Amino acid sequence: MITAQSGEDLLTALRIAHHEWRPLLALVEEALREVERPEWRDAVPAIAHPDSGPEPLLSRVVITLARRPIERWVRRVIATAAGVAPATPFADAASAERIDRVSFFQAAVAQDVEHLDGIARGVGDTRGILKGLAPLIAMPLLQACRRAWADRMLGAWPHGSCRTCGAWPTLAEIRGLDGARHLRCRCCGGDWATEWLRCPFCGERDHTQLGSLVSADGLEREKIEVCDRCHGYLKTLTTFDPIRPEQVVLHDLATVVLDVAAVERGYRPPRHRSPLAVRIVARRSGLRALLSR
Ligand SMILES: [Zn+2]
Ligand SMILES: [Zn+2]
Repeated sequence: MITAQSGEDLLTALRIAHHEWRPLLALVEEALREVERPEWRDAVPAIAHPDSGPEPLLSRVVITLARRPIERWVRRVIATAAGVAPATPFADAASAERIDRVSFFQAAVAQDVEHLDGIARGVGDTRGILKGLAPLIAMPLLQACRRAWADRMLGAWPHGSCRTCGAWPTLAEIRGLDGARHLRCRCCGGDWATEWLRCPFCGERDHTQLGSLVSADGLEREKIEVCDRCHGYLKTLTTFDPIRPEQVVLHDLATVVLDVAAVERGYRPPRHRSPLAVRIVARRSGLRALLSR
């Protein structure tokens, strides 16, 4: 089990421990760099529904941004994925060009599985590679939204899915001296406090239906919380300080052994949620827009 805490240390530890993951880690590293680019911060939309209902903040928004950063970022992820895994069905440039990059970006941000499946079918991707890339594609914009909306995150959020982007939590933290339980989202880095005995996926509170699988080291620093009602599971880490939002994705990778253990015991990742009602409007850059008039 990899337990390094700082992001850079964790990335290095993962590279050493999992040589076969280097292509994936290269993509994650690209995404972590991309998160810092100003184009995504500038694209953060106004929140469309000021009420405090169960809808995530990203729901019903229209995000207008230049086509160029979408094209550049999606092209880069596809090229990196194809470069490190030449057997991918879109490894050649002609196939990669058949992927509508704005459409792919829209599907990734909305977490629209049917839309992603359709794009994958169009290029003969039968192994779910594009679907696997979608969270990384969406990550820079979603992280920018979470940062910009930080003041909206202060109140309680009693729901199991992420307040910003609507995704299911990737892991839970038992944090600090008081052991507060926080759910974390790997897409946007979201962080919300939750009850101790409650399944985030189906809301079960009956303690006879909830349990935990403790890791082999017996230290309970990492464990798997399980629900026998919905058969969902949640990786749970004991932390002193909060995991930095951009680093949740690394901690998710570092604990993949827990995913394997949970699935081996008959538990499963949560079902995909309905796609978010979010729309991406890709503007052409000023000069091109002028020339086309
Ligand atoms: Zn989120
Ligand atoms: Zn459940």
